[in-house]
Amino acid sequence: MKPKTRLTKQRQAILQVFHQQDSLMTAQEVYELVRLTHPRMSLGTIYRNLELLTIQSFLAKIVFPDGKARFELIHSEKPNHHLICLSCGQSVHIPWCPINEKMTAFMNGKYFTPQYHQFDIFGICSECKQNSSITS
Ligand SMILES: [Zn+2]
Ligand SMILES: [Zn+2]
Repeated sequence: MKPKTRLTKQRQAILQVFHQQDSLMTAQEVYELVRLTHPRMSLGTIYRNLELLTIQSFLAKIVFPDGKARFELIHSEKPNHHLICLSCGQSVHIPWCPINEKMTAFMNGKYFTPQYHQFDIFGICSECKQNSSITS
């Protein structure tokens, strides 16, 4: 038994799914895709590894208003920040990162070492806004 090697394999399998899919996915959605190639991996294992991959900065975790966390691959060239529609759940990438010099200076002042951050704006997309004005 070499638990460390097994863990690495599980994480590789999960990351593979994200490389193929490249979208925001819940643990359940990841589980269903990983199961195709790794039928013995449990949902609990997926949850644990998703958290681990987030802490290790491989994945970004976004908690939606429905309480479900969704994950996506971190791209160095594409910040993992979104505009998220509260009505349909559609998300759009924000093409820059709002962490600025002021924020960095503040963290340095607190001797705080950042590991990862989230930045998402929740609202209503133009389509949903249009649909609601038609029906009301
Ligand atoms: Zn919408
Ligand atoms: Zn950022």
